[in-house]
Amino acid sequence: MIDQVVILLGPPGSGKGTQATRLSAELGVPHVATGDMFRTQMEEGTDLGQRAGRYMDSGRLVPDELVTEMLFVRVDGEDCVEGYVLDGFPRNLSQAESLDQGLEGRWSSSVASLEVPDEVLVERIAGRLLCREDSNHIYHASFSPPKVEGVCDECGGELYRREDDNPEVVAERLYVYREQTAAVITHYAQDGRLEPVDGNQGPDEVYRALRSAVEGSDVEEGG
Ligand code: ADP
Ligand code: ADP
Repeated sequence: MIDQVVILLGPPGSGKGTQATRLSAELGVPHVATGDMFRTQMEEGTDLGQRAGRYMDSGRLVPDELVTEMLFVRVDGEDCVEGYVLDGFPRNLSQAESLDQGLEGRWSSSVASLEVPDEVLVERIAGRLLCREDSNHIYHASFSPPKVEGVCDECGGELYRREDDNPEVVAERLYVYREQTAAVITHYAQDGRLEPVDGNQGPDEVYRALRSAVEGSDVEEGG
């Protein structure tokens, strides 16, 4: 059991989704990914999905008021009482401050940041394939291809490429990361809470480094 929130930071394509999926499964707590939540809303055609989609399609951040409330409603859920792995939030200083306030006194948190050079990010995003049935089933056309092209090994779901994983939008997302999200890294580094993790290795090596970074901040394993 853990009573801790793991905050996983890193630029687009750094492996947050891949690592958060494994960490949350092994820790037995939910993987909460704001990008996945918005994509679900878009697929369902909700008002929130339509509003968020306009920003996502161009690579900009969805406005804080749309993100923060959605996130806090989600982590108030019964399944998050023992902790959760947060992927894709916070993405600017104001979100980091909201999260600090939301967590204050209730949770301890560990913050890990996946570090990957830009040229590797671009390669990873260019080959990313996601499963329509379960956003935790993540593939790469060259680095971790499915056994059968276009089909998820785990559930048989159809694999697809994200619309925003095209070169123009990726360039904008990397720019937005540097302009707005990098400040979040500095915020946690100044607090002394940041655990940098070398994300430019194979997924198993990254996972080992992440586990030890997170354990160093006192996450207990088990259930
Ligand atoms: P990636 O996996 O490439 O880091 P995500 O799936 O986390 O991308 O996010 C995709 C898009 O969703 C972002 O480009 C942004 O438009 C929107 N988004 C996700 N999380 C947030 C957030 N915390 N604040 C603002 N926008 C967000
Ligand atoms: P993020 O959530 O940070 O945007 P993902 O976990 O979706 O990143 O990974 C982006 C792409 O890179 C996916 O296609 C994934 O299969 C691949 N990938 C993730 N981690 C690694 C790694 N350590 N080495 C090579 N490819 C990776």
